[in-house]
Amino acid sequence: MLGLYLHVPFCASKCPYCDFYSLAGQTDEDKDRYVQAMLASLHRWSTQLNTTADTVYLGGGTPSLLGAHRLVTLLTAARDAFRVPDTAEITMEANPGDDLDEVLAAFSSVGGNRLSLGVQSVNDKHLHTLGRRHTVLDVDTAVAVTHRAGIENLSFDLMLSTSGQTSADVHAAARRFAEWGARHVSAYLLKIENGTPYAEAPPPLPDEDGAATLYLEAVAALSERGYAQYEISNFAYPGFESRHNLKYWNSQPYLGIGPAAHSFLDGKRLYYPRSLSAFLAGCEPLPEAPDDTVIPESSPEEFVMLRLRLTEGLTETGYRARFGAPMPRAWLEKARALPSHLVITDDVGIRLTPEGFLVSDAILTHIL
Ligand code: SF4
Repeated sequence: MLGLYLHVPFCASKCPYCDFYSLAGQTDEDKDRYVQAMLASLHRWSTQLNTTADTVYLGGGTPSLLGAHRLVTLLTAARDAFRVPDTAEITMEANPGDDLDEVLAAFSSVGGNRLSLGVQSVNDKHLHTLGRRHTVLDVDTAVAVTHRAGIENLSFDLMLSTSGQTSADVHAAARRFAEWGARHVSAYLLKIENGTPYAEAPPPLPDEDGAATLYLEAVAALSERGYAQYEISNFAYPGFESRHNLKYWNSQPYLGIGPAAHSFLDGKRLYYPRSLSAFLAGCEPLPEAPDDTVIPESSPEEFVMLRLRLTEGLTETGYRARFGAPMPRAWLEKARALPSHLVITDDVGIRLTPEGFLVSDAILTHIL
């Protein structure tokens, strides 16, 4: 079944490190126009694909800024268009500083059952440095509102390697996340992206070794609180892994609608340009490969790159099921030659350790 991603490119303000495609300062009329364009797009795609989606992900941007009424309109249309069953995982991203009461009740009323909150830190000073608009107290409020709306499946974002962050901060975050009842944590290392205010005037950040230490501390701290790592940056209580995101890493089909959204359909990768006006004008997505190359269920190399993001790793049985042949012996031999604190190679297959995840690009280059 399909994973459906709906991109909402609106934010109350732009965070200085963020290069996601989102715009601040949109009016109610802009949001109305956007929802109409999404509805038209959903209609076109559902006619073309005539299939079912068992995960829906409203990302952005800040989708909760659409407000209760538009959100219900959009999600109802998406569920109708792709025959989304009640058992589907339906996630929305939101920010703790926003007024979420009405919007979460509305989200829940149309089947929304998972919330991804951009908490990022449990230190108000660090939140301020990151340009976030919320405080730790706002997270308390957002969590209470989420429970009131009947949504128990909570995922929190944690940003690592931020200015002034220490190992104690990372452990404090893991503790507070568990107290707040998060079932899932996404912990990302802050990267300075070109074209952002941080790239123009970078704050003092930990060096590479410092960032690696904070990442490994996060893995340990989250594990102590019961969050098992299942992907480079993702951790969950058993059974609460993100079903939607697992589709990306398992090379399963997904459709992304909205500016900057990506899709993987019938072995082809497509993307919408990063342009709101182009999307509003009805622009169709473009093929990622210039010659419109069809990748049959993704190439072996891409499959390996995606699978090695997961702690389960590249398994012999998984490779054989996908490609109908054993995994190339040369890959196993090259993996075996690497230190065991980075890569584990056994009868099951190849998988990276947390330390290996830190240098995954170099390991992939070596193996492939
Ligand atoms: S709220 Fe999220 S999407 Fe919006 S600017 Fe900040 S980091 Fe980017």
